[in-house]
Parts: sequence; C-alpha cells; structure tokens
Amino acid sequence: MAEVSLKDITKIYDGNVKAVDKVNVEVKDKEFVVLVGPSGCGKSTTLRMVAGLEDITDGDLFISGKRMNDEAPKDRDIAMVFQNYALYPHMTVYENMAFGLRIRKFPKAEIEARVKEAAQILDIEELLERKPKALSGGQRQRVAVGRAIVRKPKVFLFDEPLSNLDAKLRVQMRAEISALHTRLQATIIYVTHDQIEAMTMGDKIVVMKSGLIQQIGSPLKLYNDPINRFVAGFIGSPPMNIALAEVIEEGGKIIAKEEGMTIVIPKDKEEVIKSYLGRKVHMGVRPEDLTFTKKPEANNLNASISVIEPLGNETHLYIDTKENQYIARSLPENEFKVGDEVNFTPNVDKVQFFDVETERSLFYSE
Ligand code: ADP
Repeated sequence: MAEVSLKDITKIYDGNVKAVDKVNVEVKDKEFVVLVGPSGCGKSTTLRMVAGLEDITDGDLFISGKRMNDEAPKDRDIAMVFQNYALYPHMTVYENMAFGLRIRKFPKAEIEARVKEAAQILDIEELLERKPKALSGGQRQRVAVGRAIVRKPKVFLFDEPLSNLDAKLRVQMRAEISALHTRLQATIIYVTHDQIEAMTMGDKIVVMKSGLIQQIGSPLKLYNDPINRFVAGFIGSPPMNIALAEVIEEGGKIIAKEEGMTIVIPKDKEEVIKSYLGRKVHMGVRPEDLTFTKKPEANNLNASISVIEPLGNETHLYIDTKENQYIARSLPENEFKVGDEVNFTPNVDKVQFFDVETERSLFYSE
C-alpha cells in the first residue's frame, strides 16, 4: 500500500516567495493524481517536496502513513521521472537503468532480471547497449521511465515528462503511461501544465493557481462543475466562452442578457440568480453547447464568423460580437463561411454562472 498525504504543505523560498500555500492532497493507493496549472503555480515545487528535493517550509508529508518531512530522498521509496530525462550520457541504456540498483548494492542477477523485465514492458530490449545520444526523444523518455520502474518504488513522481516530445509522440506516450499505470498498479503523482494530459491520464486532478489549490476532482467533475472561473476557463479545449451578462426581470422571467446572448434562467436556478437582479454575472458556455443559425431576422447583434478551423472530425467557428469572441464547435461539413452573420443560442441547462467579484460558481456543489 502506498498512499501519499500532503497536509497544509507550504513552501516559502528565500526572499519570501510563497510558492505553495497550505496544499492538502490525499493520494490513495494505486491512484493516478495529476497536479495541473499554469507555469509558476507551484506544481513542480509541490512534487519536489514529495520527492525530498526541496525542504518543506510548513506542513506534514506522509507516505504510507509515515511522516517523511525529514527523510532523505533515497529513504522515501519513490522514483522520479524528470522532464529532461536526466540520463547519464556516458552510460548505455542498460547501465542507466541498472545504476540506481547498483548503488543500492542489489545482486547482479537481480539487477539483470529487473532491467530485462522493465525493458520488455517498455519495448526497449533492442536498445540496451546504446548510449542516450543514439536514441530518439521518445526512446530516451522510455529509458527514463525504465530507470524508475526497476526500482519498484512505492510511488512514481513524473515532472512534465512529455514536454520535450513532439505532439504525436506526446499522445502516444500519454497512452503508454496510462497503460503502464494499469499494469504496474502503481501510485503516481504527475505534474503537467497541459490540461489535456491531465484530463486524459488522471483519476483525480488537482488544479493549482498561484500556489493555491483551486479544485480537486475527477476529469468530468472539473469539466462539468468547475468551482470557479479560473477552473472553468483552464479545463477544456477550446476553452469555455465566458461573458459578462446583466441579470434583469422581464415579463415575470429572470433573464441574463449579454450583447450576443439572452437566456431565460431555468426555474431551478431562479432562486439563486434572483439575488443578482440589477447586477452582473459572468456567464459561461462550452463551445459544444452553442448552437447557431445563419441569416438572423431582425438581429442587431453584429455577430459574425471571423475564423473557421476545420479539424476533420469537427470544425471550430470563431464568432465575433462587438464585445466578445465566442468559439463554437460544429460538424465538419457545415454551411458557414467567414463573414456570415449568425444568431446563436446556448443550451440553457449547460450555462454556468460565476460571481464577478469572488469568481465562484453560483451552483457548484461538493
Ligand atoms: P510550476 O511548476 O507550476 O511552473 P514552480 O513550482 O516551479 O511552478 O514555481 C512556483 C513559484 O516558485 C514560481 O513563482 C517560481 O518563480 C518560484 N520558485 C521556484 N523555484 C524557486 C527557487 N529556487 N527560488 C525562488 N523562487 C522559486
């Protein structure tokens, strides 16, 4: 069993930079947890504190129930895969993978068995005698993972391991690491700035911003019920459309009105939205929840298509209004062309609302 528990973990660097602020995360045995957020949000620092490569300023770190704050990295039973792979250039692939075991004085036969097994899992048996410079980026990446696997650690830590790979290889390695997780039944903490990586790989995602955790949840929870505007905008590609809307009452109905969209608030949301009458809220709509039609009658929106991006399986349409730009998903074959004036309506049940000041979702539930 290998759980990792971060309790109020804080990191203050010299010069009073608070990089991580009271972070609480529970990683269960065999769970794949992804820390995600924009550059500088504190995710690498958090991972490095778990690894023991960075001192913990405040809070407690437990691995399998044991407090680890003061344990040396080598005594934490973890293995880390770095973004730049950190392979030894003068050693062969075999030696790179064996190195960690050799310095821990494992018997030769055991080392050989473990390296062979890892090489087989990662499909790099043919490469064992090569030096890193004779490997492609993807192969180096596999060796770096292999070096972690042979240790049979309690916990794997990955720090942006796919960032140096081209787009196609990244997608492939993403699937390989997910498959590896299933095969090894390992506990994994994985850091990335890429929300697609987070969504596709994580059982649980921790979204961070400015050293603070914003939300922890499954990929679909984050997508369907983001706690605030930041998470709403960060998770999802193309991102959620977010516009400022005025809340008014018209003909006995509560309406949220923005230059491009007017929606009648559904009955089950009226109560909460009513308290915003006469004020503004941020309204968020995902690109797949916008539908639109050409040639609007009596429409003074000035909403027109400015960009069309055909992706093959779907097409993204950029629609400019006076104040905003919206992105909508549409079928690959569609009737639109650049310059078309359009009318668009959101799927009212899917619209999200955020307080302008606190940025909190008005309907988030734990
Ligand atoms: P991320 O991994 O999310 O990009 P980091 O954890 O690397 O973010 O950094 C978080 C914050 O801590 C940033 O503001 C960064 O500039 C700062 N930081 C990171 N390392 C150091 C350091 N050694 N000394 C001072 N500040 C640091």
